[in-house]
Amino acid sequence: MRVLVLGAGQLARMMSLAGAPLNLSITAFDVASGKIVHPLTQAHIGDGLENAIAQADVVTAEFEHIPQDVLEVCEKSGKFLPGMQAILTGGDRRIEKALLDKAQVKNAKYHVIKNKADFESAIETVGVPMVLKTALGGYDGKGQWRLKEQADVDSIWSEMEECLADTKQAIVAEEFVPFNREVSLVGARNAKGEVAVYPLAENVHTDGVLSLSTPINDIELQEKAKQMFTAVAETMDYVGVLAIEFFDVNGELLVNEIAPRVHNSGHWTQQGAETCQFENHLRAVCGLPLGSTKLVRPTCMINILGEDTLPEELLKLEGCHIHWYGKDKRAGRKMGHINVSAEYTAELDRKLALLADVLDNKAFPAMQRFN
Ligand code: ATP
Ligand code: MG
Repeated sequence: MRVLVLGAGQLARMMSLAGAPLNLSITAFDVASGKIVHPLTQAHIGDGLENAIAQADVVTAEFEHIPQDVLEVCEKSGKFLPGMQAILTGGDRRIEKALLDKAQVKNAKYHVIKNKADFESAIETVGVPMVLKTALGGYDGKGQWRLKEQADVDSIWSEMEECLADTKQAIVAEEFVPFNREVSLVGARNAKGEVAVYPLAENVHTDGVLSLSTPINDIELQEKAKQMFTAVAETMDYVGVLAIEFFDVNGELLVNEIAPRVHNSGHWTQQGAETCQFENHLRAVCGLPLGSTKLVRPTCMINILGEDTLPEELLKLEGCHIHWYGKDKRAGRKMGHINVSAEYTAELDRKLALLADVLDNKAFPAMQRFN
């Protein structure tokens, strides 16, 4: 089968690598340039969305910030999964919040802001401290403000006002959640409505960007997360891999946000799960049976941010797998990730301590916890 991915980044690249053994051939459509490219080599194959769709059996996406006209063309083809509405939901926090309410899953109290009066109502209903997020276009913690005290209202408002000059834009004010930790659930749902979820992963962010992701074993929390996942996926009649980010507040889960695609916090599945998230996404959208999501060995994923070289000795460490994305180096950019696996948790901890010694502490600040 031939699968077209909207977006030509690392997620399309890893789908391509995962699809090859099943004879699933992936091409990527660079939404910004209108070019059809090879997801691994970035070689230019052709041009135009209609052309790209005509040559594919299935169309899917690796990101959610896609112009509506592009989504409409894909939807009309009848080949698009998880489909236009799912991508729009992931790309607009207003639609996302409405979906979470409809699915009756707990999420942070919120208020949508279009003007100063809305901001004042938000302060009243949501309270201070609050987190303010642009409805459109935010990622990796960008497009956010923290209102810590009333005194900062005016200075934050002047920045928000600038942003709201774009009439399509809105800002979603959210109560500040005093979470103990952040976890995410990545799972797949196919057209028959079958659901398979991976173990919950605990996520560590540094400056708003994911830096570490580790599957955890918590039966009770896993069950709660799976129920919420199923409610969200069923409400959207979702097909494909879906990721849900949660705040864990004393064992209670609140949904932070959803991503209608394979997710950075699921990259550990390449070495740590029976079937990786990229293969399961392809299986789901191609109408194939889902693969087992079982954890096969303790694994941790470390993001490589803004670096394009690593000490060669990492390759000598058993269970250490480096995944580069082939991107040009830029400060803070997601350049690749390292999956570290071991047979036992204690051995994984020992390997992570070894890695923490070898990796530059400035480039990998989250690794300091293993020193
Ligand atoms: P990404 O796309 O990388 O997941 P994002 O830009 O979409 O990030 P969020 O996930 O909404 O943004 O927020 C980024 C981080 O900010 C969260 O992982 C969390 O650490 C913190 N955060 C977000 N919302 C809240 C909240 N309501 N209360 C407390 N912290 C929050
Ligand atoms: Mg997030």
